Amino acid sequence: MDWQLLAEQAIRRLGLAAGDVRTAPVAGGDINQAYRLDIGAQRFFVKINRVELLPMFQAERAGLEAIAGSKTIRVPEVLLTGSQDASAFIVMEYIEFSGRPAAERMAPALAAMHNCYHRQFGFDCDDHIGSTPQRNRFSDDWIEFWRQHRLGYQLQLAERNGFGTELAEAGNRLAQNLHLYFSGYQPRPSLLHGDLWSGNQAADGAGNPVIFDPACYYGDHETDLAMMELFGHPGESFFAVYREHFPIDAGYRLRRELYNLYHVLNHANLFGGGYAAQARDLIDRLLAHGG
Ligand code: ADP
Repeated sequence: MDWQLLAEQAIRRLGLAAGDVRTAPVAGGDINQAYRLDIGAQRFFVKINRVELLPMFQAERAGLEAIAGSKTIRVPEVLLTGSQDASAFIVMEYIEFSGRPAAERMAPALAAMHNCYHRQFGFDCDDHIGSTPQRNRFSDDWIEFWRQHRLGYQLQLAERNGFGTELAEAGNRLAQNLHLYFSGYQPRPSLLHGDLWSGNQAADGAGNPVIFDPACYYGDHETDLAMMELFGHPGESFFAVYREHFPIDAGYRLRRELYNLYHVLNHANLFGGGYAAQARDLIDRLLAHGG
C-alpha cells in the first residue's frame, strides 16, 4: 500500500486538510491487516486485504451503514472503500476504545437495534463470516433461510473439507428437523450484527458501546445473543437489562446451541482441529433434545 497515495485520495475525496502522513499497525484483527493512519492531526482506521476482496469491504460498509442508519448503537463511520494496485482498502473513523462496554449500556442499545425490522430475512448483499462467504438472499421463511444459507452451507463446506460423512449425516438429519426447535416461536427479521463475539465490541472514551466488523443481515435476534455467549459471556446483568427492552423466548436456551453450531462449524471449516468435534457434540445434543 502506498500510504502517501491513499492519504492524497482521502484528502481529495473527503476534503481534508493536508498534513504529514504516518501509519502504525493495529493488532487484534483476524482477517485483514489493520492500521492507524494519521494525516496531520486527523486519525483514521484502515483495513487492507487483497484487491479481489474489495466486495468484502463493500459489504462491511453496507453493514456498518445499516447499523449507523438505525441510530441505536455506535459504529465507526465508513469514509472510503476502494483499491490501489493489488490491495483493497476500507477507511473509517478511528475510535479510541476504553475497554469493554458496560452491560447496562450495551443491552438497551443492542435491543434497540434488534427492534429495527425488515420485511424479510436476509440482506441487500452477501457478506463474509470470518473469511467464509455468507449468503443473504432475502426470504420470508426463517427456518428455510437458516437451513439453506447458514447450517446447510457450512455442512457442505465441512463435507468438502473432509470432516467425514458422520458429521454431515448427523448435521443433515438436524437440518431436516429444524421446525422442532421453533414450535410456538416465530422470529422477526431484526437488524443483526451477525458476528458479535467479544472481540467485535468495545466502549468509546465516553463509555458508549461500539460494535464493529459486522456480518449484517436481518434475522432472529437470538442469533446475536447466542454468539455473545459463545466465546465469552456478557454476564447475567446484560440479559436482565436486555429482557426489559426485548423479551427472550423460553426456547432460546436450546436454539442458542443451534445458532452457535453455525459459528462452530465455520471455525471448523476455517481452522479445523477441535472445532469439528465440538460441532459434532452440539449436533448430538440438539438431536437428543429434538425440540
Ligand atoms: P478484522 O476484519 O481483521 O477482524 P477488525 O475490524 O476486528 O479486523 O479490527 C481489528 C482491531 O482493530 C479490532 O480488534 C479493534 O481493536 C481495532 N479497531 C476496529 N475498528 C476500529 C476503529 N474504527 N478505530 C480504532 N480501532 C479499531
